[in-house]
Amino acid sequence: MHEFLRTLPKVELHLHIEGSLEPELMFALAQRNGIELPYATVQEAKDAYHFSDLQGFLDLYFQGMSVLRNEEDFYDLAMDYFKRARGEGVVHIDMHFDPQAHLQRGVPLEVVMAGLLKAKQEAEETLDLSVGMIMAFLRDRPADEALHVLEQAAPYWKMLDAIGLDSAEQNNPPVKFVEVFDRAKQLGLVRVAHAGGGGAC
Ligand SMILES: [Zn+2]
Repeated sequence: MHEFLRTLPKVELHLHIEGSLEPELMFALAQRNGIELPYATVQEAKDAYHFSDLQGFLDLYFQGMSVLRNEEDFYDLAMDYFKRARGEGVVHIDMHFDPQAHLQRGVPLEVVMAGLLKAKQEAEETLDLSVGMIMAFLRDRPADEALHVLEQAAPYWKMLDAIGLDSAEQNNPPVKFVEVFDRAKQLGLVRVAHAGGGGAC
């Protein structure tokens, strides 16, 4: 039964690619980029994954992505996940990614996009896996920053399947982003937003 379920074709509708970073790859990228992690070992990092609420998860999420610096880091992050998902029968992934989380660390949008788009192309050519690109805006960041990122992404508008909203939901309702969504609509982009009880992610 397990093997039957594994091979059934599946669609993954809710993925934040940065959140798919496994401790092993986090350590490898930290080493490659000369970044010191607050964990001494892979096991210590794994233990930290026992968070109790959304904020605990988000803290870990943003900590983990500090190792993503260069195009090849984003490529490795995405390919690592694509291969794992394909191995479990996934044939399509709608992939959220968070440009602001990287821009605020000084990583240019071009670096993020180049790495993710390269992985998407390779997955579609070699893994028989299609990937939708959802550029997500962080709810807890200002709406005008999101608007600015949307404009900055002009060279990539045609490659986006949608824009989205994610991260901390509390006190950051969708209405905060009306202007961003209006602009995206004007550009002909599909708009999505997701939410969960007491948090969202
Ligand atoms: Zn989410």
